[in-house]
Amino acid sequence: ATVLAIETSCDETAVAIVKNRHVISSIVSSQIAIHRQYGGVVPEVASRQHVEIVNQAIAQSLTESGLGWSDIDAIAATCAPGLVGALLVGLTAAKTLALVHQKPLIGVHHLEGHIYASYLTDPTLEPPFLCLLVSGGHTSLIYVKECGVYEILGQTRDDAAGEAFDKVARLLNLGYPGGPILDRLATEGNPKAFPLPEGKVSKPEGGFHRYDSSFSGLKTAVLRLTQTLQQSGQPLPVNDIAASFQATVAKALTRRAIACALDYGLNTIVVGGGVAANSGLRQHLQDVASQHNLRVLFPPMKFCTDNAAMIGCAAAEHFEKGHRSPLTLGAQSRLPVSDVMKLYGSNAN
Ligand code: ATP
Ligand code: MG
Ligand code: FE
Repeated sequence: ATVLAIETSCDETAVAIVKNRHVISSIVSSQIAIHRQYGGVVPEVASRQHVEIVNQAIAQSLTESGLGWSDIDAIAATCAPGLVGALLVGLTAAKTLALVHQKPLIGVHHLEGHIYASYLTDPTLEPPFLCLLVSGGHTSLIYVKECGVYEILGQTRDDAAGEAFDKVARLLNLGYPGGPILDRLATEGNPKAFPLPEGKVSKPEGGFHRYDSSFSGLKTAVLRLTQTLQQSGQPLPVNDIAASFQATVAKALTRRAIACALDYGLNTIVVGGGVAANSGLRQHLQDVASQHNLRVLFPPMKFCTDNAAMIGCAAAEHFEKGHRSPLTLGAQSRLPVSDVMKLYGSNAN
């Protein structure tokens, strides 16, 4: 199927045209420069920016694809989870196009987009597989049984992996978003310079919960370390701190993903979300997985962070299964990925 997809859940205005797990055109306009001055995304500013450029992005995506409306089989938009005002901009644009051009509408769960971004790396990939989803708002281990059928096996108890990168970068005064900056500095540092806690999570009834993660303790440890080092009066060894922090996050995520894949007998681990771009994670997970004869797949670098090509990929899967959303579909700030079928057919809100 050929799908035109729109993504406006946060601070990227993105439009793409995807045909059978291949990108025909992809436009991503980031608002990072606008939000940077506030140190994070300001919801109302994000919605306004989406309104200003979404139509232009749609036109540009269509022009670059060389296709016409008659070549498009369905219109897709991210409708959950995310900032409601931001989601509504893309969803309303998609509904309008669906109505005007008489195409089916497919609402997409943002995390399904991150899961299926790896189809752009390997179009032959099929479930079942384990997805390690590591983004700005989520850190989850998701058992992908088939398109639309998910079981969440592990989650973070506090900060998401991407959020941890952003917070650590902020406390080191490095800027926003922190992930790419720390990744770059880490390549110049010694990952063994400072031992840091991986952050184990205990079960309420005692014992260690194998698949859940926690990054707030690690963040606090980096803060204490930084304060101690600052007292010495020497310049702060930011490269070594970045490398030590990044290696600790990579180890924590890898340990959980490997344990989970082995326990559930899943031989493929698919990584998704902005932190899938992290060089430390890519290297370490790949190394440990190959020791266990597990396959690891990452999205192409530019489709790790938010984009519409991944949304088109997810929508195409739903399209092939006959899933359609009603034009009354709403935007939702929260929706577990295990509830995605609520977006289709008679279940849709
Ligand atoms: P969600 O998908 O959970 O709603 P989001 O859409 O804001 O959150 P993404 O766009 O998937 O998140 O990812 C953004 C996050 O990825 C940011 O926290 C950013 O710091 C992090 N990130 C991006 N590149 C890297 C990198 N190379 N290393 C580590 N983190 C990275
Ligand atoms: Mg973003
Ligand atoms: Fe995202």
